[in-house]
Amino acid sequence: MTELTAADLRTIFQAIGDAIEADKSRLSELDGVIGDADHGVTMSIGFTAVNEALAKLDASADPTTVFNTAAKSFLNAVGASSGPLYGTAFMRAGAAVKGKPTVDRDALADCIQAMAKGMQDRGKAERGEKTMMDAWLPAADAAQEAKARGDDAVACLEAAVAAAEAGAEATKAMLATKGRASRLGERAIGHMDPGAASAVTILKAITAAVRG
Ligand code: ADP
Ligand code: MG
Ligand code: MG
Repeated sequence: MTELTAADLRTIFQAIGDAIEADKSRLSELDGVIGDADHGVTMSIGFTAVNEALAKLDASADPTTVFNTAAKSFLNAVGASSGPLYGTAFMRAGAAVKGKPTVDRDALADCIQAMAKGMQDRGKAERGEKTMMDAWLPAADAAQEAKARGDDAVACLEAAVAAAEAGAEATKAMLATKGRASRLGERAIGHMDPGAASAVTILKAITAAVRG
């Protein structure tokens, strides 16, 4: 993939859906330890709805329409906290590529940053609160740093994956102050945040799809 077309974006969403499906039970098990054991299911419901909506979308739809369709369907399908977070993220990614017939490979890092910023605006979690932001914020920064160094899109995504993995790993040591896990206090320590874990899965799937 050189320039990402709207069709390529649909392929990427399909790849994310497949990766979430394969990871569903692990994600729910992680959520079972510090939450309500549904994170794999909620993410699976969300991306299934996204891919069903994208399959019905007109072939001439532009990248912004693909992202907006993803946003709306994820939000409508998912009642859990991840619903509005990813809904906002995809909406912001759509705004970041507004008016563009294709997504320049360099614009991918900007999409990731727009997504992370959207999630943070919506959920108001800071780094260190044991949420998916502990994966998404460092991933967005790493992609921007790689882009500023002149790295190509795949290298930017690889940097984002590495940062997200480190961030997800770091959530183990954190106390949760946002989301369901905050009710557990110190009992959440030692366990990875499920939302940070699924962020890694999503970023890995994007990277593999763009690498081709
Ligand atoms: P629910 O907690 O409603 O069952 P999920 O299980 O789908 O929702 O998602 C849980 C994940 O949502 C958590 O692991 C955490 O990463 C993330 N999360 C919860 N609240 C916030 C927030 N305010 N900001 C960012 N992420 C959050
Ligand atoms: Mg849950
Ligand atoms: Mg729930």
